[in-house]
Amino acid sequence: MTSSFHPPIRTLMGPGPSDVNPRILEALSRPTIGHLDPAFISMMDELKTLLQFAFRTTNQLTIPVSAPGSAGMECVFANLVEPGEKLIVCQNGVFGGRMKENVERCGGTAVMVTDDFGAPVDPKKLEEALKRHPDAMAVAFVHSETSTGVRSDAEVLCTLAREYDCLAIVDAVTTLAGIPLEVDAWGIDAIYSGTQKCLSCIPGLSPVSFSPRAAAKITNRKNRVQSWFLDTNLIMGYWCTDAKRSYHHTAPVNSLYALHESLVILEEEGLENSWKRHQLNHLALAAGLESLGLGFAVEEGSRLPQLNAVSFPQQIDEAAVRRALLAEYGLEIGAGLGALAGKVWRIGLMGYASNRKNVNLCVSALGNVLNAQGHRCDVSQAIAEVERVYV
Ligand SMILES: *Cc1c(COP(=O)(O)O)cnc(C)c1O
Repeated sequence: MTSSFHPPIRTLMGPGPSDVNPRILEALSRPTIGHLDPAFISMMDELKTLLQFAFRTTNQLTIPVSAPGSAGMECVFANLVEPGEKLIVCQNGVFGGRMKENVERCGGTAVMVTDDFGAPVDPKKLEEALKRHPDAMAVAFVHSETSTGVRSDAEVLCTLAREYDCLAIVDAVTTLAGIPLEVDAWGIDAIYSGTQKCLSCIPGLSPVSFSPRAAAKITNRKNRVQSWFLDTNLIMGYWCTDAKRSYHHTAPVNSLYALHESLVILEEEGLENSWKRHQLNHLALAAGLESLGLGFAVEEGSRLPQLNAVSFPQQIDEAAVRRALLAEYGLEIGAGLGALAGKVWRIGLMGYASNRKNVNLCVSALGNVLNAQGHRCDVSQAIAEVERVYV
């Protein structure tokens, strides 16, 4: 007989999923009701309003796609790109490469603007590309590159897109609730996020939002959206109508309770307070790590507070350190990805996991493991540096 699965207790400080707030797990376990039940439909309406609040937008087409962040990415490109169209895609990490894949699979052409893994998107390079390709219809970039821990200047990049009459498409999977994001004020036309990063919800949903300009482009398409499931023209009939809602797919009812709860928690804390909390805990972690003799792979002005790309002396066996953290402390941190594989750890401080206790745990556990493996460091000094940031 197979027995029930009980996961081990972990502290999740990797690139996502992050620790789920127990309030959200409790919401998830509430009774399932029909996805066309009037009570469920009023919860959906609240959910849309809460997402508008989190994205800082009045966009009507603001909904959670019933699938993970990658599906949100696919939803944006599948709806906006028609065969033969040209887009400028900025790539400075792994996720920008996936945008290119999406554009090409939709029959579009991706003009690539590339920056090094670990550097932000360079607005000058984007402007050169915009000048060389006046026929481009959109600019796409990743705001928070989770693969490298880099923040690009979304406001500047969106302003450029608008100046050259392009739509601005933004990956905000790791951004939402972690660092400032202003969908309307920055002129973002299409954006997608995820639930398992700074919202500290369960994985598997992707909030998306389309500006009226983007929505008009979708309505006026010459060809049907190639994906039936992700076609917003059809999804609207379920999520965005005042008339009777029609069946599109069975909404992930309990997952949506969880997302609702996570946004209620965000509203209680306040969006700006959430941004401030992420920044404070990042500064405390950075103080502790630097005291342990570790460095950052990203320059100070472009570091993501919610995802720290941490470099270490070459002689350290980085995989052995991660294994020891997991086995002895139940602490998960992430490995490097793509060009940074084997070169950095990715330490997340996302959502509910971004707190003083976790910063202390991470710095002391990492220090102890490094000492045990023969790399001398002073753990109590590092903890003192951490605590100094909080007083
Ligand atoms: C995590 C992530 C994704 C993909 O989200 P999934 O939920 O894993 O599909 C996309 N973009 C970025 C920047 C991410 O960090």
